[in-house]
Formats: sequence, C-alpha cells, structure tokens
Amino acid sequence: MFYVRDKQGQKPFIKEGKIYELLEKTKSPDSIKVDEIIQKSLSKKRLEPEEVATLLNVEEETTLEKIFEGAKTLKQRIYGNRIVFFAPLYIGNKCVNDCQYCGFRSSNKEIYRNSLTFEQLKKEIEALENKGHKRLILVYGEHPEYDANFIAKTVETVYNTKNNNGEIRRVNINAAPQTIDDYKKIKDVGIGTFQIFQETYHYETYKKLHPKGPKSSYIWRLYGLDRAIQAGIDDVGIGALFGLSNYKFEVMGLIYHTIHFEERFGFGPHTISFPRIEPALNTPLSFQPPSLVDDKTFKKIVAILRLAVPYTGLILTAREPIKVRNEVLKLGVSQIDAGSNIGVGAYSTQDKESYKKSQFTLSDQRSLDLVIKELSKEGYLPSFCTACYRMGRTGEHFMEFAIPGFVKRFCTPNAILTSLEYSLDYASNETKNIIKNQINEEFKNMEEGKLKNMLLEKIKLIENGERDLYF
Ligand code: SAM
Ligand code: SF4
Repeated sequence: MFYVRDKQGQKPFIKEGKIYELLEKTKSPDSIKVDEIIQKSLSKKRLEPEEVATLLNVEEETTLEKIFEGAKTLKQRIYGNRIVFFAPLYIGNKCVNDCQYCGFRSSNKEIYRNSLTFEQLKKEIEALENKGHKRLILVYGEHPEYDANFIAKTVETVYNTKNNNGEIRRVNINAAPQTIDDYKKIKDVGIGTFQIFQETYHYETYKKLHPKGPKSSYIWRLYGLDRAIQAGIDDVGIGALFGLSNYKFEVMGLIYHTIHFEERFGFGPHTISFPRIEPALNTPLSFQPPSLVDDKTFKKIVAILRLAVPYTGLILTAREPIKVRNEVLKLGVSQIDAGSNIGVGAYSTQDKESYKKSQFTLSDQRSLDLVIKELSKEGYLPSFCTACYRMGRTGEHFMEFAIPGFVKRFCTPNAILTSLEYSLDYASNETKNIIKNQINEEFKNMEEGKLKNMLLEKIKLIENGERDLYF
C-alpha cells in the first residue's frame, strides 16, 4: 500500500488497502442488499464506499438489470429528459509530460505540434458559433507556453468573439493542475468548470504510465482541484481514464475523491467524467489498454456512478461510438459533446490531416445538427443553457438535484429557450421541425400559471429576434 502526503501534510484520501478490503468483503452480493442500496440512492442519498463496492461486485444478469433500471429511474425522476450540449476546443498540443496513452506525449515524434495563434483561435470560435454552440471546454497540453496568463487570455478571446447571433456563453477548462495563484488568474476571467482527470487512482499504475514531467507527481494532481476550490473555483470536474487499471478500483477512487471534497469543502464535484482510452497516433498503449473496459462493463460503470453520486453531472464524450452513447445516455448522463473535432485548428480549416495533430480519434463523428435531430426524435430536450453560470448560481447540477422544483422552474424553460434559439439560427429544416414538436410537447406538459405565461412571452421575443433570454 502506498503512503503519500502533499506539501501541507494532508492525509491521503485514496487508501488502496481499504479499497481492496471493501471489494473483497462485498463479493457475491445478494439481490436484496442490492435493492436496498438502489432504494437509498433513489431517496437522493450519496452512497457509501461499501455500498458502491457491493454494486461493483454484481455480475449476475438480473441483478445488473436492476442497477440499470435504478439509474434510469433516478435520471428520469431528478433530471428529466434534458441533454446539455458542449464542444471541446483544443488550443495546443505541445506537452512536457509523457503519458503513455496520449498522442500528445513528449516522446511522440510523429505528432505534428502546434498551438493556435489568437487569429486562428478566433476563426475556430466563429466556426463553432456558426454551428450553434454556446458552451465550450478548452483543452491544453501541459507546456510553459500554456501558462495561467495564456489560458486566461484564450478564455477572454472566446467570450469576446461574437458572430451574428453566435456567442460562447460558458467556457470550461481542461488543463494541467495549477498553483492557487494561477487558478485565481483563470477564475478572474469567468470560467465555468475546471476539470482535471486523475487518469488512474492506482498509485503504482500512475507512476508507471506518467514517467516524466510535472504530471509524474500523483499527489500534485490528486490535490489539483483542492487548490482550484481554494482559489474560489466552485465548479470542479473529476474523472478517471478507464482502461489503465481495474475499473472497480477506479470507480472507488472517484467515490473517495467525491467524499474528500464533501468533507473538506462541504460540496462534491460538479461533474464526473469517465472516458475510455481511444486509439492515438503512434501510441501503442492506446491500442492495447492494460485493463480494457468492454461496452457492457462501461454501461455498468455509468449506472453505478449515477447511483453512487446522484447529485453530480455526468459527462459522456464523442470518444464513445453512437450505439454506446445512445444506451448510456438513458442511464443518467447530463452533458454530451457533439460535432466535435479534436485536431488543433480543425474546426475552421476542415483539415483532412487533423488526426496528425489529435490526441486520439473520436468514434462519434456526427454533426451537432444530426445528434440534436436524432436525440430530439427519441424524446430528449436539447439544451444550451448557461443561465446558472451567468446568474452566479454555481453548482447547478447540485441545485437541480437538491432544490425541489428547480428543474421545472429553471432548467426546462431554459432548455426550451436555448433549443428554440438553436432551431431558429442554426438547425436544418428537418431538425427545426423536430425541435418544434419537442418544444410544443414540453410546453403542453407545463402547469398553467405565471411561469408558463412568462415563458410564452420570452418565446415570442426570441421569435421576434431577441436572444439570450433566461430564467
Ligand atoms: N494535458 C492536460 C492533462 O493531461 O490534464 C489536459 C488535457 S488532456 C489533453 C485531456 C484528457 O484526455 C486527459 O486527462 C486524459 O484523460 C484524456 N486522454 C489522453 N489520452 C487519451 C486517449 N488516448 N484516449 C482517450 N482519452 C485520452
Ligand atoms: Fe500531455 Fe495531457 Fe496528453 Fe498527458 S494527457 S501527454 S499531460 S496532453
């Protein structure tokens, strides 16, 4: 068992021995116990590590089915049918680390290195705005060029670049862990969530796969989001890269990370991400991940995370193939990307060789319009809402979960308003009609009263050309 302390002498919160002990203790769980755990989650309580270990040890088909049904019920009851859309925007792929699974790693000589100039960045933003995006996550390699001042300047550029009705209203960040002072510089330009994935919570595996650069320090990364919160960034996103180590261990790591935040700061992570390793140019490990997670296990991971931390947002990316995306969406995912292109500069140039500048390859390459059309047909309500962030309401996923009526009062009306904007400004004719039907359906189901009247007023204003109206 490893033993580490960070510079402030904090106790480590990932205790390997304890995780193994719980996974051993809860082997072959009976279905009554599993039922009880699911009921606890449905009563809106975060699960304890032993309960999560119990769910992870379920292998029997009918009991697994109960877990899937439980996750679906929880999603329907608490979050409803909204899906929030975002797009990733890669700013630069230079990197001083050597993560063995990543196309950007420093020892990869086949990747073409580049960073967007501010002119190119503007073009990328305009291209994304022209598709209808309102929320971005900016992604950076770890390199002296991408310091906090640079990151802050890229965020400002994104907010300042507007194009007809197009504008980006929320910028999230996925970048290297920073010092508290550097986080403050980034917070000051108005970011939404700061994401850092631990990749693997398993210390030995982490050490082996991160042999070089600042990322070789497990503990600097593990406490990376603590420093973000200390700097005043309330929305932080955790994640594990599935395929590096045993999936049960990683889910337990995510739960202990969550509990650590709750105990230290009084609130949990805003989002949890669960990417699986995808093939990356000239990166052997990415083609043969050491602990490959198959599609069925992936579904199990998502359902258990939904039940384990019912108040957090779950992010599913276009790394996953369409079929898998459609299946796990039902299990409680709150945000997805669509129309994504992860080659540096590829949104504006349509660069056919962009894979040479990409971190890995994406499986779902459908356009935003097509994904919206297909999901709306399935009864999902697309949303580009950024209202909470704009109103200073941090932790919106927690509020959706914890405040009775929050979804009805804010989220659904805002989803209607932003999907209406999308349909008027960017949708193809076919998608426009499908969104219209979906909006009518939602509107019909709303209770009569003041809120519905106010929404109708806002709908009319948007139809007459006003934009960016929200509750
Ligand atoms: N460079 C920073 C870092 O490592 O934290 C920020 C962004 S990194 C470009 C974003 C995430 O991509 C990583 O945290 C990792 O989980 C994920 N990633 C890296 N290689 C991958 C691969 N081959 N397939 C899927 N995801 C990968
Ligand atoms: Fe660099 Fe991040 Fe890729 Fe690691 S995962 S090589 S830090 S870009």
